[in-house]
Amino acid sequence: MNFLHYQKGKLFAHQHSITELAQQYGTPLYVYSRDYIEQQWLEFDHALKGRKHLICYAIKANSNLAILNTLAKLGSGFDIVSQGELERVLKAGADPKKVVFSGVAKSEAEIERALEVGIKCFNVESEPELERIQSIAQRLNKIAPISLRVNPDVDAKTHPYISTGLRNNKFGISYQLARAVYQKARELSHIEIFGIDCHIGSQLTDISPFLDAADRILTLVNQLKNDGIIIKHIDFGGGLGVCYDNETPIKSSDLVNELIKKLAAYDCDDVEILFEPGRSIVANSGMLITRVEYVKHQDDNHFAIVDAGMNDLIRPALYEAWMRILPEQEDKPGQTIYPYSIVGPICESSDFLGKDRELAVEQGDLLVVCSAGAYGFTMASNYNSKPKVAEVLIDETSHRLVRKRETFEMLWQGETI
Ligand SMILES: *Cc1c(COP(=O)(O)O)cnc(C)c1O
Repeated sequence: MNFLHYQKGKLFAHQHSITELAQQYGTPLYVYSRDYIEQQWLEFDHALKGRKHLICYAIKANSNLAILNTLAKLGSGFDIVSQGELERVLKAGADPKKVVFSGVAKSEAEIERALEVGIKCFNVESEPELERIQSIAQRLNKIAPISLRVNPDVDAKTHPYISTGLRNNKFGISYQLARAVYQKARELSHIEIFGIDCHIGSQLTDISPFLDAADRILTLVNQLKNDGIIIKHIDFGGGLGVCYDNETPIKSSDLVNELIKKLAAYDCDDVEILFEPGRSIVANSGMLITRVEYVKHQDDNHFAIVDAGMNDLIRPALYEAWMRILPEQEDKPGQTIYPYSIVGPICESSDFLGKDRELAVEQGDLLVVCSAGAYGFTMASNYNSKPKVAEVLIDETSHRLVRKRETFEMLWQGETI
């Protein structure tokens, strides 16, 4: 997070003091850098210059309208996994012709709506889904553009909860069956085959699983060519890891260059290339600012109890994810440093943001959880009847509210006694 820095011992994001952001908007507070998001997207896009390509930002990582609009203005496509996400990207000003629709459980209503607005492609994840799309398209008298999401059975070597490309995962159509399913798709009257797709997992820090998956996908593309089925685009999915601690992330340009070599080796130079990055675009654009409510020392345990919890940011609780936590004030002379557990207000022992963090903190201090721009707010809930927090978008010189803090009334909206 190169835009975060200490100035005279106080933490700033670009030119904005964390203290002032917290004062103006309250805590807990999500803050994202628009400049960072644009840079990440443009770097990826630039790596593909001169080739037919589309970067479809996976909106489940962070679906705030202001961020979607920022990316839509750059010309981004979008990878969605639900009708809610479809409605969001449309609301944000996206071109439906640049939307690809992934997900294993697409409902009839979702398929109908996607056909109605005219998306670029359905990433089909099973044979029954293919049949459902065919029958709805026939009823609506539309041709449905499809690609098959192929499960290449490669180990992404990431956390099991975010690994999706192994044979025993629920995602995609198995590599061995895909050819037959393509042959079937070709026979369907209201289906048009456009592409092939894979997505093997998230937070990958090693490039080799991508290349192994590409080998399998490209072998299949050539087999399909022999069958007379021409693949017009290859979607390599998302999954690029980011730096939370000391990981070395895969540079988008390195991945692109390696994959382009593969395309040449398999004589597939002329296809359109798609990617579906989520985390790598937004993770390090964002932070969660939280305030220390209490400090509690018991036996050998040292707790900094803060106002943000697993309801706001579930990654540490769900995946035991490590996220950097910085104090707003760099040094606290006279304050003892303890190995703190940074815990939230939720009544669960899994409610922590960090463990064993050497910090000097006191009641009222601000802490900043870094790299919280992806799978942060989008995974937030109202558990313990906590209103969802506010979101702010900053750039070099300005800041603005892009989502109001929820009110208590919103907690029971739609409920009756
Ligand atoms: C989640 C997801 C992505 C994005 O993954 P990241 O690790 O955030 O880049 C891309 N494609 C599909 C199908 C997904 O489910």
